[in-house]
Amino acid sequence: MKWNKGIMQKENQNGTQELMKDIAKGLLYNHARINANTVKTLEATSFLYALVELLNEKGLISIDELDERKKQVAERLVKVFIESGIGLLYQDPEEDKYTFKQEANVDCLSRLHICKSICCKFPFALSKQDVEEGIIRWEFGRPYLIAHNPDGYCSHLDGKTYKCTVRDHRPVPCRGFNCQDNEKWHVWLDYNKKILNPELKEQIGQGNDKIYSCPATKFKREANDEK
Ligand code: SF4
Ligand code: SF4
Repeated sequence: MKWNKGIMQKENQNGTQELMKDIAKGLLYNHARINANTVKTLEATSFLYALVELLNEKGLISIDELDERKKQVAERLVKVFIESGIGLLYQDPEEDKYTFKQEANVDCLSRLHICKSICCKFPFALSKQDVEEGIIRWEFGRPYLIAHNPDGYCSHLDGKTYKCTVRDHRPVPCRGFNCQDNEKWHVWLDYNKKILNPELKEQIGQGNDKIYSCPATKFKREANDEK
C-alpha cells in the first residue's frame, strides 16, 4: 500500500509540474504578444501624432475639429467593439455577493421538477469578485460570461437534481434572480399555477446566439455539438 501511495504521489507531482510548465508557456506567449503589440501601438501612435501636428501647422485641420471628430469615431468604434464580442464583460455596478441583501424569494424547490432550473441557462457576466475568487467558471472565448455546457446549462448545475453545486459561492445574478416578475426573462406563463412560458426556450436560444457569436466560442460550441 505504501508503495502504491508513493507512486501516486509521484504521479501527482509530475502532473502538477507538467501543468506549471504549460501555464508558464502560456504566460510567456501572452507576454511576448503584449510586448510586440505595445511596440506596434507606440509606432502607430507616433505616426498619427506627427501627422496631426503637420496638418495643424499647415492650417489644414484645427485641433477643436479633430477632437470633435475623434469623439464621434470613438463612439462608433466602441459600438463595433462591443458587438464583435472582443471586450471583457463584468458586472457593473459590482456588489459583494457575500453581503448581498436582495436575495430573491422564490420557492425553487417546489418548482424544480417543472422549470428544471431553466434560469441556469441564462447568460450573464461575472463580477471581479467571482473571477478573482477562482471558483465560478467562465467562458474562455468570451470573458467573463458564466461558463455553459453544450446543453446550454451553467457548468455548475447538477444535471440530475437541477441544483447548484456552488450554492454558497454563486454569483449575484443567481442570488437576485426572481422568476416571478423578471422584466427580461418571462419564465412562467402563470407563476401561481406553475405553467411554464413555452416561448422561453426560443428566447434563451436567440439571446445566447447573439452573445456567444464571437468566433472562438462559436467554434467551441459547434465542435461540442457534433459529439
Ligand atoms: S428561480 Fe425560478 S426558474 Fe430558477 S430555479 Fe427557481 S423556480 Fe426555477
Ligand atoms: S452558479 Fe449555480 S445558480 Fe448560478 S447559474 Fe450556475 S448553477 Fe445556476
